[in-house]
Amino acid sequence: MVGGRSELMAIRDALYIGPMLSRLLGRALPSRCRICHAWPAQPLCEACVAAFAQPVARCPRCALRLAEHDSPCPDCLRDPPPLERCVAAVDYAWPWSDCIAQFKFGADPGWRDALALLMRSTPWAEPLIDACELAVPMRMPERRLRERGFNQALELARRLAPQRCDATLLMRLPDARDLPEQHTLSRAARLANLRGAMLVDPLRLPAVQGRQVLLVDDVMTTGASLRAAAGALLQAGARSVSALVLARTPAPGTADAVRAATDADQALYRD
Ligand SMILES: [Zn+2]
Ligand SMILES: [Zn+2]
Repeated sequence: MVGGRSELMAIRDALYIGPMLSRLLGRALPSRCRICHAWPAQPLCEACVAAFAQPVARCPRCALRLAEHDSPCPDCLRDPPPLERCVAAVDYAWPWSDCIAQFKFGADPGWRDALALLMRSTPWAEPLIDACELAVPMRMPERRLRERGFNQALELARRLAPQRCDATLLMRLPDARDLPEQHTLSRAARLANLRGAMLVDPLRLPAVQGRQVLLVDDVMTTGASLRAAAGALLQAGARSVSALVLARTPAPGTADAVRAATDADQALYRD
């Protein structure tokens, strides 16, 4: 979606000047690590990335932690998801739950580049980014977008694949709460049943057909939204759909999940 000179300049900046400048800034200007507060450091210092973002074995289809690499988890073997490949940089646990909360609610642009770089550095992420013809950020419900003012998945997708990012392709059916009052109750009830359902803009089908698509999101919880989006894209004619997410919520009922939930709770109380 290119519209006007300022957008062209923004794209040019993202392509050429942005990465160069951020690398230069990371090296040349002193700043504090946002996790351990050590400085001078890059926004995420090497020690924190080494301590908290070590690659772990994950299911190639749903990114849950596994004991071994590259074998789908039992759930994905039983019921293969529409995602050809799913890569997560980290578990949704402290310190990342804390970082993501700051990114979402603080609207701190400094996080955007650091977290996108973390995603790009994850094993298997770079080939997915390079191979995709479209990078599609997950849509938020309109009400949440109005409250927050920006979509963090779009911010990440723009950094990861600036030339191929398409934020308008995927549509999300509105929540019943977003409907104007003149809508009948029965229509609202019907839409409530479809809450979270996704479809490809019918006018944009040619943009999807035959393409290799990469969905981008910040947090993958159950994976239901990503599966719905992938299903809609495949139905619209996409050749394949994969996903790259920043953080994956561990499987419910596991020790990882208990630890992650505790860490996420604690993150709310940290200063
Ligand atoms: Zn640090
Ligand atoms: Zn799986």
